[in-house]
Amino acid sequence: MAQQDRPARHFETELVQGGTLRSQFSETSEALFLTQGHVYESAEQCERRFLGEDPGFIYARFSNPTVGMFERRIALLEGAEAARATATGMAAVTAALMGLTRAGDHVVAAQALFGSCRYVVEEHLPRFGVESTLIDGTNLAAWRAAVRPNTKVFFLESPANPTLEVIDIAAVAKIAKEVGAFLVVDNVFATPLWQKPLALGADCVTYSATKHIDGQGRCLGGVILGSEKFINDHVHTLLRQTGPAMSPFNAWVLLKGLETLAIRVERQTRTAATLADWLAESAKVTKLIFPGRKDHPQAEIIARQMGGPSTLIALEVQGGKAGAFHFLNALKIFRISNNLGDAKSLAVHPATTTHQRFSPEVRAAMGVGDGLVRLSVGLEHPEDLKADLAAALAAV
Ligand SMILES: *Cc1c(COP(=O)(O)O)cnc(C)c1O
Repeated sequence: MAQQDRPARHFETELVQGGTLRSQFSETSEALFLTQGHVYESAEQCERRFLGEDPGFIYARFSNPTVGMFERRIALLEGAEAARATATGMAAVTAALMGLTRAGDHVVAAQALFGSCRYVVEEHLPRFGVESTLIDGTNLAAWRAAVRPNTKVFFLESPANPTLEVIDIAAVAKIAKEVGAFLVVDNVFATPLWQKPLALGADCVTYSATKHIDGQGRCLGGVILGSEKFINDHVHTLLRQTGPAMSPFNAWVLLKGLETLAIRVERQTRTAATLADWLAESAKVTKLIFPGRKDHPQAEIIARQMGGPSTLIALEVQGGKAGAFHFLNALKIFRISNNLGDAKSLAVHPATTTHQRFSPEVRAAMGVGDGLVRLSVGLEHPEDLKADLAAALAAV
């Protein structure tokens, strides 16, 4: 398909149409190609396919027609030249960081990270001789101060899980360029709808497609995006040879998830904004963080770099952990779950789940207090969600 030859289409159109490959049956909906491999017309064609001279698929560890449609669609949405799908979001983050580094290199990362992202940076990379420094990502001077001659990568999440802390991506990208480091941004919380890190100067974007891209709590998936050169130079062979491939079935579910991403995320964001404003007025809520509010610590950056705020809310209720547990246990529509971005509203206590393995001091430095609750707002009616939260706050 000559995708490059046609005029640029809008985000919503690419969500539904981008990257579609139709088989000889001209099916309307994307086909699910459950095949591990492909057959060749001749030994010569097979040789050319392996040489990369004959376009087409080889083996599902490399890609597959359904996975390829997902990769093409998400690349168009992100404005990236290339994308590689992975089995999970963590496979995407790990492959991006490992692909960019070798023993003796150094990584600087914002400390406010999803638990597993932080473990990869802080525990796994050092086991292979890649040192890391964790900093307050909102402090631009700290990025600069952490740089060493062997710094190869800057890594951040914005907004961060679960604190919704926001980092000035363009400013960090500028520092990365100056010092010759690659900037990798985990864009899960922002979603492809609300933030475009590549346009802000990042070299690589990763997603857990498990979250808003599926959006209906079914499949795991991840994706790595960047320029053709970035993907070819740093992740292409690592992914092929180590094999964290996305299954064609998951790619098919995620393609169908993308079709409705904009309407789901817009609606969930609108409901989250309404609930955040309402929660902020409650005497039981001691702290409320929502990227759409004027009182967010980085409101000015958010206005510059994001097209919309978030489907997530972070709040602290009175009474620390006990207060948070009373609140969670009294919820009826919001269910207790560590997932996010789902059509169903979910709530979690990060200090005892996603961030449980960190010491209380480290958690405090990351902004994950004992009273912190993360709400992932779904597609239910806002009034029902408000009533649910009101009843739970009454129980605190
Ligand atoms: C969930 C999540 C991940 C990991 O994704 P999986 O698909 O669960 O592996 C990475 N980063 C962030 C910010 C996440 O929320």
